[in-house]
Amino acid sequence: AGAVSLALTLSACGQNSEGSSGGSEGSSEGATIGIAMPTQASERWITDGKSVVEDLQAKGYKTKLVYGEDNPKTQVSQIEKLIKQGVDALIIAAIDNKSLNGVLQKAADAGTPVISYDRLILGTENVDYYVSFDNEQVGRLQARYIIEKLGLEDGKGPFNIELFAGSSDDNNTKYFFDGAMNLLQPYLDSKQLVVQSGQTELDKVTTLRWDGPTAQKRMNRILTQSYKSEKVDAVLSPYDGISIGILNALQSDGYGSGSKPLPVITGQDAELASVKSIVAGQQSQTIYKDLRQLAEVAANMVDDILHDDVPQVNNRRTYNNGVKAVPAYLLQPTSVDKTNYKDVLVQGGYYTDAELK
Ligand code: BGC
Repeated sequence: AGAVSLALTLSACGQNSEGSSGGSEGSSEGATIGIAMPTQASERWITDGKSVVEDLQAKGYKTKLVYGEDNPKTQVSQIEKLIKQGVDALIIAAIDNKSLNGVLQKAADAGTPVISYDRLILGTENVDYYVSFDNEQVGRLQARYIIEKLGLEDGKGPFNIELFAGSSDDNNTKYFFDGAMNLLQPYLDSKQLVVQSGQTELDKVTTLRWDGPTAQKRMNRILTQSYKSEKVDAVLSPYDGISIGILNALQSDGYGSGSKPLPVITGQDAELASVKSIVAGQQSQTIYKDLRQLAEVAANMVDDILHDDVPQVNNRRTYNNGVKAVPAYLLQPTSVDKTNYKDVLVQGGYYTDAELK
């Protein structure tokens, strides 16, 4: 309830922005940037919002930050409102990547440039730039971790694995999943890995809106139906919130005590609760993505566009959104587990030691 009321306050007021954007042509002075983020239910997007606001304000921009709380319609109307308020550019992390065509046409009509933030917006030409992480690499790092921990390269097995993917309306989902499955498939083929539930296709393993409790229910069902006499050795989980749901299901089935050790279980985002879980020996791994870098690139892109400069891109592969190839800047993710969390997260200034206690 706290998050929801904060969301309402934020979206009702627009965050820390006074006055109008003042239609600045080719100049950042007095310009206001609209930032539409998906949800405050996950810590990462709160960090994203904060970091983007800080970076833009440091460059002299005003900002209006809104959260759609995982409701695509809310996000569309929030963006519509930002356009009406005359924002000079939009930074958008879509909830449903195909729901924004109409509203982005309005942005184009108003001459408002659009940065697709973290998640590629599909099916519209009205997206100017994309900034994200190498999303296939995220999946590869998760798979590599499982392969290493189970000793699959040394021929060990067979092991039981279950597969979870993210939300079907998020373009990142298939990149994460394909990145992981490309590495896992040979072991499924050789039967060193077995999916007892039989659920291996992406459309069977997605988790709407990345919801932890939804994943928990699916894991419960799988345990009841397919693990009466078997045990789970690994779970491919795409996101920390989903990993928490999966862990809940496993623990209530007796895993983590006695003769049933917890399986190897991946994650993503290095959210505080999951890093603590890793330190406590429950979740095995997460993928850390330095959101401060992501925010910085997005802020620089906006700044360049509004100064008529060409933003820097680094994509070796094209991100086609179905209508156009969107120029992209991709950052690198890092695998984090018990052995390196201090070096990466604490030394890197992402968390303090005290936060992880
Ligand atoms: C992001 C992930 C995040 C997920 C759920 C994806 O689009 O890239 O970092 O875990 O959404 O919020």
